[in-house]
This record gives sequence, C-alpha cells and structure tokens, in this order.
Amino acid sequence: MDEYQIARERMIQHLREHYKIQDERVLDAMTAVPRHFFVPEALKAQAYKDNALPIASNQTISQPFIVARMTELLELNNQSKILEIGAGSGYQTAILAFLAREIYAVERVPQLAEEARERLQKFNVQNVSLRCADGTNGWENHAPFDGILVAAGSPSLPEPLLKQLRQGGKLVIPIGEDQKTQKLTRITRSAANDFQTEDFGACAFVPLIGEHGWKND
Ligand code: SAH
Repeated sequence: MDEYQIARERMIQHLREHYKIQDERVLDAMTAVPRHFFVPEALKAQAYKDNALPIASNQTISQPFIVARMTELLELNNQSKILEIGAGSGYQTAILAFLAREIYAVERVPQLAEEARERLQKFNVQNVSLRCADGTNGWENHAPFDGILVAAGSPSLPEPLLKQLRQGGKLVIPIGEDQKTQKLTRITRSAANDFQTEDFGACAFVPLIGEHGWKND
C-alpha cells in the first residue's frame, strides 16, 4: 500500500475500459510497478495521469497506454528474452522485467542510463542488464531475442534489429518519415527470411537517434 495506490488503480481501470487493454498480465505488471517512482520528484503527483511526462535530457516517460499497448503487442511470457531500446526512466524496463525472464535494455543518454540503473536496483529488479550505447545496433552478444521493443521513433526499420529477432519473435517499433509522428508497427519474423508487418495506428515518440535511426540530434 502506498499513497498512490488509488490513482494507480484508476489508471488501470482507464487502460482496461477506455483503451481496451485486455492482457491481464500487462495490467498486473502495471499495478505492481509504481510509476511515480520513475518520474522526476516535482512531477510525482502527475505520475498516474493519461499522458507522457518529461524526464531529463529533453526525453519523456511514455504515456501509460503506450507502455501497455507495446507490452501487449510483444506477446511475451515468463520465458522470454527481450531487448528494449530507449530505456529512458526505466519504467517500461521494470514492466518488462516483471513479465519476462531476461531483459537487455539500451539507453543512449548516459545520465538517463545511470539513473534508470539506480532506480531498477532500488526497486530490486534482478533480471535486467542495462547499457549505455546506440541501440539501433541491437545487442548482438545476447541475440536472438523473443521480442524487441523500441521506445523511440525511427525513420525506417533498423536492419540489425531484424537480424537479432528469433524466428517467431516480434519487434514493436514506431516508424515515421518525419520526426514528429509515427505509426506503431509490429514485425513478426515468421521464418528466417519472412517478416510480417502490422500497423497499430498513429503515435508520437521522441526520435531514435543513431547509426540506423535519425542521424541528427
Ligand atoms: N520507455 C521510456 C521511454 C523513454 S523516451 C520511458 O518510458 O521512460 C525514448 C528514449 O530513447 C530516450 O531516453 C532516448 O534517449 C532514447 N534513445 C533515443 N535513441 C536511442 C538509441 N539509438 N539507442 C538507445 N536509446 C535511444
């Protein structure tokens, strides 16, 4: 029991009723992980609102609905090995860690990576390895992954991520030709050289910056 429990339960109810999130495991994870723990001190009171919030370095902690939707789309289970690109605050990372076996998380901004690592440690999350690097190159040493979640908008599909996806695995990534809006896209690798694409509607993420993403800052 914490002082935000009622706000958190209201958020879950909104995810279920308004946004039609149906995966009970995802809703359980979002009930268990205190979002207020991952937002800047000054914004704690807003932690359970239905929107993204600013974190350090001009980045954002994603809207709860987007976290729920992307997690649901991965169709992971407690044996899954997941790669997350753009760990940011570490909130999405903690949700994935609650549901899957092993999480490899990559964050490009050193300060964010450091803070996320500290938070996850304080929260006693054991199954996450987090590194500061350009995630558009994936994390080759730990590939293949059952699922890959990219939490920043990419101009196109980063080739290394497709290569590091296990057969049957799913990549969930916002793709858009301009930096402001994207389409939430899911790629399923149904066979070694067979990739299916599904479109889950418009979304707006901060840009994915790197060798296989946007080149500018
Ligand atoms: N899921 C995070 C979202 C953070 S916003 C949260 O809810 O807190 C997206 C993050 O992607 C930012 O922290 C940004 O620094 C990071 N990012 C952008 N390009 C990246 C890249 N090439 N590799 C790794 N992280 C990247």
